[in-house]
Amino acid sequence: MSLLYALCPLPFSVFYLWLKSLRPLRLRGEHPAVPVSYLGHSQIFSGIAIEVSLIAGEKHQKLQYELKDKKLMIKVDMHIHTSYSPDSLLPIDDLLRTCDGKGIDCVAVVDHDTAEGGLKLYELAPSKIIVGEEIHTTLGEIIGLFLKENIQPWLSPMETVERIKAQGGLVYLPHPFDGMRAAVLERQALDEIWEKIDIVEVFNSRNVFPWSNWKASSFAVEKGIVSGAGSDAHTRFEVGRAYVMMESFDSAADFLSKLARAEIRGRKTPVVFNLLNKVYKIVRGIG
Ligand SMILES: [Zn+2]
Repeated sequence: MSLLYALCPLPFSVFYLWLKSLRPLRLRGEHPAVPVSYLGHSQIFSGIAIEVSLIAGEKHQKLQYELKDKKLMIKVDMHIHTSYSPDSLLPIDDLLRTCDGKGIDCVAVVDHDTAEGGLKLYELAPSKIIVGEEIHTTLGEIIGLFLKENIQPWLSPMETVERIKAQGGLVYLPHPFDGMRAAVLERQALDEIWEKIDIVEVFNSRNVFPWSNWKASSFAVEKGIVSGAGSDAHTRFEVGRAYVMMESFDSAADFLSKLARAEIRGRKTPVVFNLLNKVYKIVRGIG
């Protein structure tokens, strides 16, 4: 019996450690990038969650240290889903407040097959919102950033890319090598459109396995494509778990050139959130 009393605090300790591992990302410059040899990128391991700092190439790494005044830098989470996505639990009206609370300066709203949510938020806070859409094509998903209007889903990948470019938008390839997702862009489509891709998502917090991000990063470096990162948030909790720290920008072209020398930071989201989404989709009869 005394052993039972002695073990009582154990579940609480485990619960506390689990809760601690879920705390929102608040790097604010106190976690320096620690370069390691793998693919020339950096990783910091902390408890259950994985904190990652990625810098796309030695040139950008050098620039990071040249940017001494961090106050000039902004944090941009490049992959957010609001309630305009049928599988998101993040109310659109809460997003700006959530960003303020987490110190995230700007987010790309990339709801599934609609830019309506992003357009609505852009009217309220243009400096904090990049209007985007995560678009289903016939061979997997592609994100358009800096859009002015909706892009029709279920077109071919090439047609989708052309429609993004026609609006002056940027083509952003989300989670390209995550084998756990159904809507990853298929290899044949990637081979066809890769030269038109502006940004590759090299860190997505919802990727279950870290090697999906590593492979994406390797692909971006190999092809000389600019790297980006985002939380893929579908809940308030996830906002800001991955972001790029970059100089402020005033257009799509300016964003792309500054992103090329941004610092990429993020932390993996616990898999329970992927499962939560699966359950929510079943309950709502989606997919
Ligand atoms: Zn997404």
